[in-house]
Amino acid sequence: MAVSKCSRLSGALVKQLLESVDSVLFDCDGVIWRGDQAIPGAPEVINLLKKSGKKVFFVTNNSTKTRKMYADKLGKLGFDASEEEVFGTAYCSAMYLKTVCRLQGKVYLIGSHAMRQELEAMCIQQVGVGPDPVSGGQSDWANVPLDPDVKAVLVGFDEHFSYMKLNRALQYLCDPECQFVGTNTDTRLPLEGGKAVPGTGCLLKSVETAAQRQAQVVGKPSNFMFECVADQFGLDPSKCLMVGDRLDTDIMLGSNCGLKTLLTLTGVSTVADAEAHQRSGCPHRQKMVPDYYVDSIAEILPALQG
Ligand code: PLP
Ligand code: CA
Repeated sequence: MAVSKCSRLSGALVKQLLESVDSVLFDCDGVIWRGDQAIPGAPEVINLLKKSGKKVFFVTNNSTKTRKMYADKLGKLGFDASEEEVFGTAYCSAMYLKTVCRLQGKVYLIGSHAMRQELEAMCIQQVGVGPDPVSGGQSDWANVPLDPDVKAVLVGFDEHFSYMKLNRALQYLCDPECQFVGTNTDTRLPLEGGKAVPGTGCLLKSVETAAQRQAQVVGKPSNFMFECVADQFGLDPSKCLMVGDRLDTDIMLGSNCGLKTLLTLTGVSTVADAEAHQRSGCPHRQKMVPDYYVDSIAEILPALQG
């Protein structure tokens, strides 16, 4: 096995790496699909990994879908996948509120219907999903009606995010006992053709700025995301491979948790980004240097077929 980091994964190294792990965690967007299209060869890679006895998991920071919605999407794109193998931030943030925060009360949710469903599946009540009922034209914003049972604010991706929601979150978070959780900090969502749209990190930052408090973040690179998988499936970190397209979330998560790491170049980060981290000499930035990289996960295919 190569000792230097950031090596191209090819030839005999592919088989050696796969033999050294029993579980493979895949980031989703930019790794196994882009938007609504599978990365060519990705379904075959995942299905063959499973056939060869590896455990496979799907670990995404995207909070807009439930585990069931992801399992349906994966199935439609040709991946052999079940709900239990999917760890998205809608599900994981509900787990976090239940198991880490031990929340007794309701959640003020800045987020999607999918997040609401995952909360309700764990018997956590929420208020706030959808457009805020109070629109503009009111001057007494600091006295907006609040639900006294709200004991946590949870921020995820919310297409109805507004000044009123930001204000309401601030009013709840003025109570120091009110817990503050965010799904993820991804600042931009890259689209085809070099375009991008604002990610959940922008919404979370604005709530943090207003509340003058830092949220507890559930998504990658937080260890919680891996612990969620590891606890449910009894994983040994040293026998896990994390495959991702982002150095600051996926590869950082892998490094933080002691996993082997593989960067794939079908998404956000480049080898030049990784090499710049490597050259920096900064210990924090070293955690964003992957062990290996491939142009696409399709490059693993021959080792699985042979
Ligand atoms: N958050 C949202 C709302 C997204 O749409 C996406 C990607 O589509 C992500 C986060 C990043 O997802 P992943 O962790 O699968 O790359
Ligand atoms: Ca990604």
